[in-house]
Amino acid sequence: MQYLIDQARVFRARAAAHTVHLGSLAEPQNPRAMFIACSDARLVPALITAARPGDLFELRTYGGVIPPYEAEVPTGESLTIEYAVNELNVSDIIICGHSHCDVVSAAMHDNLAASGVKGTEEDLAPLTGDLTAAGHWHVLAQLDALSGYPSVTARLADRSLHLNAWFHEIETGATLHYHPRASAFLPL
Ligand SMILES: [Zn+2]
Repeated sequence: MQYLIDQARVFRARAAAHTVHLGSLAEPQNPRAMFIACSDARLVPALITAARPGDLFELRTYGGVIPPYEAEVPTGESLTIEYAVNELNVSDIIICGHSHCDVVSAAMHDNLAASGVKGTEEDLAPLTGDLTAAGHWHVLAQLDALSGYPSVTARLADRSLHLNAWFHEIETGATLHYHPRASAFLPL
């Protein structure tokens, strides 16, 4: 903890060294994209994308899991997504999974119910095999859930919003991008 405190104390100096103009951050945010990812400490969106303050509007959840949309039951996740889509008017949403995800591993083993990953036996079939394939499938499952949000559906229809499924390999640093035509994750 002390390391974090010490770093926070010298943040202003580090920001200045990286030519980050903190004063301009008082203006309303206008992020380049929304970035939805697992809360895993090894996955650092700003490091992967070289994002600077103001660039990414982030949603980090357990496994990057996006709950199904329910109008009557707003969740922290749904409120964050609606704000990004309706108020910030982001043009892109990136859903980024990663290798060696604890949540995917748990889902693959014997803890499906507690993992937050839900589905029929057929849906869960990919989770019984290869960990990488399961990780890819997990990202696409969240993409499906996101596509079910009415605000997202509307903006996909008028093509003002683009969804991007990424998969980051934490042990190599490579990031893959899902190509629907190839039905595969390929290097960015
Ligand atoms: Zn994870």
